[in-house]
Order: sequence, then structure tokens, then C-alpha cells
Amino acid sequence: MKLAIIKQGLKLLAGALCMISASSIAAQERPNILLILADDLGYADVGFNGSTDITTPSLDQLAHQGMTFSQAYVAHAFCGPSRAGLMTGRYPHKFGSQFNLPDTSMSGGLGIPTSETFVSEVLQDSGYFTGVVGKWHLGETEKYHPNNRGFDEFYGFLPGGHNYLPEEFNPRYDALVAAGRTDIPDYIKPLEHNGKQVRETEYITDALSREAVNFVTAGAKKDQPWFLYLAYNAPHTPLQAKPEDMEKFPHIKDKKRKIYAGMVYAMDRGVGRVMAALKETDQYDNTLVLFLSDNGGKVSQGANNDPLQAGKGSAYEGGFRVPMLAHWPAQIKPEGNYTHPVNALDFFPTFAALAEAPLPEGIELDGKNLWPALKTGASARKGETFFAMRHRGDHSDTAAIRDNWKAVRVGKGPWALYDVVADPAERKDLSGKKPQLLHDLVDEANTWSWTHEQPRWFHIQKEGFEWREKSMPRFHETFDLLEGGNY
Ligand code: CA
Repeated sequence: MKLAIIKQGLKLLAGALCMISASSIAAQERPNILLILADDLGYADVGFNGSTDITTPSLDQLAHQGMTFSQAYVAHAFCGPSRAGLMTGRYPHKFGSQFNLPDTSMSGGLGIPTSETFVSEVLQDSGYFTGVVGKWHLGETEKYHPNNRGFDEFYGFLPGGHNYLPEEFNPRYDALVAAGRTDIPDYIKPLEHNGKQVRETEYITDALSREAVNFVTAGAKKDQPWFLYLAYNAPHTPLQAKPEDMEKFPHIKDKKRKIYAGMVYAMDRGVGRVMAALKETDQYDNTLVLFLSDNGGKVSQGANNDPLQAGKGSAYEGGFRVPMLAHWPAQIKPEGNYTHPVNALDFFPTFAALAEAPLPEGIELDGKNLWPALKTGASARKGETFFAMRHRGDHSDTAAIRDNWKAVRVGKGPWALYDVVADPAERKDLSGKKPQLLHDLVDEANTWSWTHEQPRWFHIQKEGFEWREKSMPRFHETFDLLEGGNY
């Protein structure tokens, strides 16, 4: 017992010494913040998380020189709501944004309600030069446009995805325009720069990397710090890679996996280009880089979430536990691994604190400033619970996570309880051994559900029809342990 305590003490001490260097943030200039988001990247699809077939040398180098996170979560298991949580620091369910925006033209004129404050607005107000490069997916009409949500610069596309090969999508687009068609698929429409259409000619991932380099180079010339949200759509479908990137993976025989690998490799190459630009402009040391995926990988489309169960969209770990790293030479020491849970909801308060930016009066954020905990290696949210919920037809898959414990209900079966640190694959249900803990976690999730707002939209009409027909959300069933067969 004594030995265990000493060991634990040494571990904490080591954490304190290793993770963050001694110099205080206040002693130097406010950091630049580079938030890099991958789209549908699998937990096991980066070298620093153990990928053996896909290589990610740039990301691995950042991980090696910085800190990795083994239990990092996002606010939702798919794109739109995850990004809404990232930008607002609040559960998307609380402002009716728990579904992807409608797949109709201009997202049906809908977007994340303007009553929500984006972290970009807070950083911009505090004097940061702000930009987003890549996929937006938070509303397409003017009031929801990135330039009206705290971003000085926007280069990319507003809907939920895009084709990667301009030599294919440009002619298709031109042909439809020439034919007078108005129902042109979002994925082949021109990209834009601050509301102005651009004719992109590079492989999209390379184009986004190029624009990120341009942004940080422009940022270096300003006498203000910057915040760049680099939202790659890679490796989200459609599966389209450059031949030379796929050639890096002769050992991969599965066709989808091979294309997917090429897409991940192109993104990694882009991250390397941006890091080189930071070095060239003397910004490398005082830039915080955070890299993560917006949700789990889609296993049917080449991704690998090992050892996690399931993937994108799921309340199992594979749905919303993501690869993540942090890199900041001036503050974060190499070779760190933060083993406690963190959530993308934490970025808003963390960025605001690092930027010494005041929070809007009355704002109720769901995350926590991670920085004090990262300094000591302790948990930022010991004993606190956070949640994930995905509505499906006539029920809601739900998870509640506290420390290493997770209560989860998928489908209409019983609630289960897992130790997701010892058992990340969620194979050993411990609900029978710890019924009180399960009860408490389900109770907390139920209380959390009272804070939800009815969905403001549905991605496809069928979802909306079902919601009404099935009298969703049916939380009286979701949180009923008796109904679930737990008693
Ligand atoms: Ca996604």
C-alpha cells in the first residue's frame, strides 16, 4: 500500500516536472493558437496512437515533442454537433443543434443560433487575428458565416464536406452550371475566400495546407497573436487520394484502406508544411498546436479505431474518443502523456484563459480550463461527469463518463458500466458489481437531459418525421433502469 502511494506520488511529481516547463505564461507574449481538426479520423490511424500501416511522421514528431492524450473526447459522435460543441464550449443539445444541418440548399438557411458565443469571437475581441481554413458546417447564410462569427479570415467551404480532386469536380460543376441546373451538389461547388468564390486547382487537402501556411505567415507580420482553426475535411468521404500518396502504402491491400491512408498522409504532410512555416517565421516556440479528430473513424470507409469499439456515430468509445496531441515548445515538455479524460468542450475556456480574454457575462460553459491540471498532471475534472448522446429513430444512445468509469446504453438493451481505462474496448460489463455507481451516472445523465432543447433541425426529412412519429426523445425510457432490464 505504502509503495503504491509513493509510486503514485512520484508519478504525480514526474507529471508536474515533465509536462509543463517552469516558466509562467504571463512572463511571455500570449501564444498563437493553432487548432487542427481532422474529420472522421480513426483512433488508431496515427502513428502516435500505434498505427502500424499508416504513417504520420509530422504528427508523430509533434506528439514526441509534446503531449498526447489517451482519453480525449469530443462533444458528439458526428460532424456538425461536434463542431458546434468545439466552437461554443457547450453541449450542442442545449441549443437544439444535436443533428447535422439540413441537407437542403444553404442548410435550409439554418445555423448555430447566434445567441451562442463562439470561442473565435472571444479571442477576436481580445485582440487575436483569427482565421478558419477548411470545413465550416455550422451554417451557410450570412449571419452564420464564419466572417460573422469571430473569424477575420475564411478560406474553405461552408457545407459538411467536399470532393478533393479539382480536375474532376470543376468540370462537373461547369457542366451543371452550363445546363442551367440549380441543384448542384455541395461537394462540387467552388470553395470561397471571405465570401468570394475561388477556383481551386490543388488537391483540396494541399490547398487547405497552403492557405494555413499563408495565414500563419500573414500572422507573423502582425503585432497581435493569432488563432487559426484548420479544419481539414480529410479523411472524410469521398475516398479520394493522390496516387503518389497512396504509393507510400504498398503494404496495404484493402482498396478503401489504401485510399484512406493516402488521405491521412496528405493531411500529415500539410501539418508538416504548417510547422515548417512556423519555424521559418520564428513562431514555432510560442504557438500552441492542438490536433484531434471531430469524431471517431468510419470503419466501413477505411478507418481503424482499435482498440475501441464501434466508430463514428456511436456512444461506444469508437464514436467520440479521438486521437489528440498538444504541442507548445515554450510551455509543454516533450514525451508527455495525459491519461485523464479531457473533452473538446474544454478548449473554449482553456483558449480564453491562455489568451487572457474575458468571458462574456453570464456565459455557461460546459468545459473547464485544462491548463492548471496539465501543469500538475492531475485530472482537470476529477469526480465530474460528462456526456454523449446520439438520437436514433425511437431511442437515444447515451454515455456518461466520470474518471475511468462509463455508463452507456446503446439501442434498447440494458445500461452497461465499463472501466474505459482498463477496458477501452468495453467488453467487461461491471454494472452488476457496481450498481450504485451505475445508478448515479444514469441519474446524472437524466439531470443533464433536462437542459436539452428540442432539435432546431434534422439532417434529413426522415429523421424529423420519425422524431415526431415516435414521440422522441422518450427520455422516460432512456433513463429508466427498470425498463432497460438493469433491475
Ligand atoms: Ca466528422
